[in-house]
Amino acid sequence: MSEQQTRVDQPVNYQINEKGFRNFLEDFKASMKRAFHEDDKIDQFCSTRGLPPAVLTELMSLNPMSLCIPIEYGGFNGNVKENIALVSAASYESLALSLTLGINNGLFIQPFAKYGQESAKAKVFEQFVESRKMGGLMITEPDFGSDALNMITSCTVKDGIYHLRGKKHWAGLTGMADYWILTARRRTESNGLMRDIEMFVCDVNEPEQKIVVEEYFENLGLYQIPYGRNHIDVYIPEEKKLVPKTNGIQMMLDLLHRSRFQFPGMGLGIIKRILDEAIAHTKSRLVSNKHLFDYDQVQHRLSRLQANFTICSAFCLKSGEIAGVENDLSGLGLEANITKSVTSDMMQESAQSLLQLVGAKGYKLNHIAGRSVVDSRPFQIFEGSNDILYNQIAESVLKLMKTAKEKSLLTFLKGYASRAADRIHEMINFDLETPFAQRKLVEFGQVISRIVSMDLVLYLEEKGFRKDLIDNALIVLRQEISTLINNFHFANNAVVVADYDEKSFWLDF
Ligand SMILES: Cc1cc2nc3c(=O)[nH]c(=O)nc-3n(C[C@H](O)[C@H](O)[C@H](O)COP(=O)(O)OP(=O)(O)OC[C@H]3O[C@@H](n4cnc5c(N)ncnc54)[C@H](O)[C@@H]3O)c2cc1C
Repeated sequence: MSEQQTRVDQPVNYQINEKGFRNFLEDFKASMKRAFHEDDKIDQFCSTRGLPPAVLTELMSLNPMSLCIPIEYGGFNGNVKENIALVSAASYESLALSLTLGINNGLFIQPFAKYGQESAKAKVFEQFVESRKMGGLMITEPDFGSDALNMITSCTVKDGIYHLRGKKHWAGLTGMADYWILTARRRTESNGLMRDIEMFVCDVNEPEQKIVVEEYFENLGLYQIPYGRNHIDVYIPEEKKLVPKTNGIQMMLDLLHRSRFQFPGMGLGIIKRILDEAIAHTKSRLVSNKHLFDYDQVQHRLSRLQANFTICSAFCLKSGEIAGVENDLSGLGLEANITKSVTSDMMQESAQSLLQLVGAKGYKLNHIAGRSVVDSRPFQIFEGSNDILYNQIAESVLKLMKTAKEKSLLTFLKGYASRAADRIHEMINFDLETPFAQRKLVEFGQVISRIVSMDLVLYLEEKGFRKDLIDNALIVLRQEISTLINNFHFANNAVVVADYDEKSFWLDF
């Protein structure tokens, strides 16, 4: 980015450099304060669906969606690091707003900028910059969620026009976004479906590209984001097809992994907010004539919240370094999956802990504690259910160990996460006997994820992050790794008794 270049088409002109970005970020924070806090607006609308037009207008006044749009199309040319900073600032105020930015930037703008055809970009990006349009991504189908590669939305092509047919549900910004990246599989001549996934940009304002919302869902949280089930029967011209570098599945993995690497941005803001709320509440609340803050169990909770803040900061640093749009992330599943699953677990754990500390007052949709519990919960489900991601993390590590003909976890980790391996060598000094049951794979994946988290916290320390926070995070992680290793070693093959009504009613005994 050159110092001379400035955005001239925006309400405020920002220099396209680091200083300009920081100025923009400060102004965006002020804009969010106006949108959410003047007249206690957030308490009025956080338990109703959608965003009031005045709030949306205020939030869009600085055009945050233009951050990741390339400079030649009037955008800020922002990189992944800057997007992480933006979504983090947003999630301090509203996780729903942060996810809205995350969907637009991570699931639409970044992949379209990378894989879209030049001839199609100008009009679409102009609509984002000039008319505040939004975009999203539709992968999930009613019968194919975790098993997305087997999706049955199909496409056929005739005279350069692609015809897509199918159903998609749970896409964030359903009925609200104007642009969608649609995923489909090519129908073969024998009426089967090709294995590869193809992607297209659909503009719902075009006559043959309307997407019909069959039903809006009553989503449990994230009230400001509409979800629902969509009927797809659209005709899209060739130039709106995304062009993979190798194949469509690699393109989708690159896209999804980059998005997973940006989760810590959304995580950091809300965890910081939760930590600040928890400290403020416990310092003022008197129980039995003593401030909550001074109870040891409360300190335990607060220190865990602060450890989550530090771990999430470590993830943000690393993601900013490796997840740039210019990099092919399709092969970084292990790292991306660790980042996403640990971040989303920490978000939910932090929200639950704040609710515990606040007590009954927090059990309201319009209290930050209650709202955070429901808003953060689906992050453990979407973009890869955490159960499956931990399983995949374990399988990736076992594969690496097998390739290296290594059975010792300690020796392997000395090469893979050396900073952490040195700290906890006595805990991880055992050989792995494969194969494991799936539940053990999941537990092993959790162990690996927390060890890698520790490694990244030590890297954050090397970069100069404050030492007291690092030391606390290391203690918390050490205890967690120890607990998870114990779980992993504990033999448990219990299975459910599905037909359990007989002889199981306590009152009979
Ligand atoms: C708030 C929200 C936002 C979303 N946003 C989007 C979006 O923008 N775009 C989009 O395309 N989709 C989106 N989704 C959909 C999301 O990606 C899917 O819900 C997710 O992939 C899981 O699919 P599913 O719900 O069909 O669950 P299923 O695939 O039925 O899985 C349910 C559960 O079964 C278990 N399970 C499944 N497979 C296995 C296995 N192999 N081994 C062990 N356990 C297993 C796991 O516990 C899993 O959580 C969103 C969902 C939510 C809730």
